[in-house]
Amino acid sequence: MDCNVIRDLLPLYQDEAVSEETKKVIEEHLESCEDCRRYYDEMRHIPHSLEDADGKGKYRYSEVVDMLKKRTVLEYSIGAALLVTSVAGIVKAVLGTDKRWR
Ligand SMILES: [Zn+2]
Repeated sequence: MDCNVIRDLLPLYQDEAVSEETKKVIEEHLESCEDCRRYYDEMRHIPHSLEDADGKGKYRYSEVVDMLKKRTVLEYSIGAALLVTSVAGIVKAVLGTDKRWR
């Protein structure tokens, strides 16, 4: 079983939304794969920190992972926007210098 497949299934496993068969495959993989075990440990700690942050109730792990994915996309978008802004700033500065030279 591929590690990425296991990691995709872990939130569902934590929510107990997988079949007995899948559960067994995941448990067997976790026993033999230290990387996925660590990933699973980290994943299980995420909702606790969210709970502490805004005092809300329980999250479903699949929702949390979705949220994290969306947040990552959002962070990338903000990063890209900032990059465009700074590039525009540099272009403006260079053009401004150009005008002064003329
Ligand atoms: Zn693995």
